[in-house]
Amino acid sequence: MYLSKVNFECYTDTTITRAEKAINLLLDSWRYHGQIIGREFPVVLKDAAFSVRVVCPEENSLLDSFQSKQVKRAKLALSEAGLLSPKLKNLGRDINSDDSDTCETPSWQVLYTNYLQSCSPVRCGDHFTPIPLYHLPAVANGDHKQLIKWQEDWSACDQLQMNGSILEHSALKEMSDITSRLYRRGSDLTKRLEYLSKVPTYLYLYRVGGESLETEKERCCPSCGGDWLLENTVHDIFDFKCDTCRLVSNISWDFKR
Ligand SMILES: [Zn+2]
Ligand SMILES: [Zn+2]
Repeated sequence: MYLSKVNFECYTDTTITRAEKAINLLLDSWRYHGQIIGREFPVVLKDAAFSVRVVCPEENSLLDSFQSKQVKRAKLALSEAGLLSPKLKNLGRDINSDDSDTCETPSWQVLYTNYLQSCSPVRCGDHFTPIPLYHLPAVANGDHKQLIKWQEDWSACDQLQMNGSILEHSALKEMSDITSRLYRRGSDLTKRLEYLSKVPTYLYLYRVGGESLETEKERCCPSCGGDWLLENTVHDIFDFKCDTCRLVSNISWDFKR
């Protein structure tokens, strides 16, 4: 991923509140389209200009050609708030983060996240690298807000079950049970994404607990009851894959070597 500095200069009298509101609207719109990554964006005011550092999946993520209608609208709102168009400066590649996927068309893709991840929740099935969301057709209303919201909810559940102090059981159910609301939302999103992108799109179902490695291996697809054990683990995580239900899962983390 790449670090960029974005500058907003005032061209007329404005108030900090108005400018802040307009800048935050643009940051939100960029985030909901996958053009910037993360949750916190400290904005600094110095010499009548605001500046903010953002992390982008690619060097050119903030190009106008990738923007959603929400981003376009947010840019218009900037000028109404007395700010010039944002000026971008590339600061370089973040050596600690994953690279984005570069496939033209992956043979499959998967909706996957965890409590530590802030990169795109859609990964290339061939390389397991995150696919910048703005390269995918928008799932609803012209951007990817629904995917980002699904990712936030999934990460929050994962955090709760990792911490294990409150709501652990309900959080785990949301991530691992095909009757949960989070599962249904994920499933609807993967179906929509597959329909729009024409790329087989799978949903990851978390699995922990169980009795033994043997009984784990005998598990059937929870959706169709079919055989779904893979010969070899894929990307160190997926031991199960149902091509009918577009589901992937792991042998319970309690028994995985
Ligand atoms: Zn790939
Ligand atoms: Zn199935």
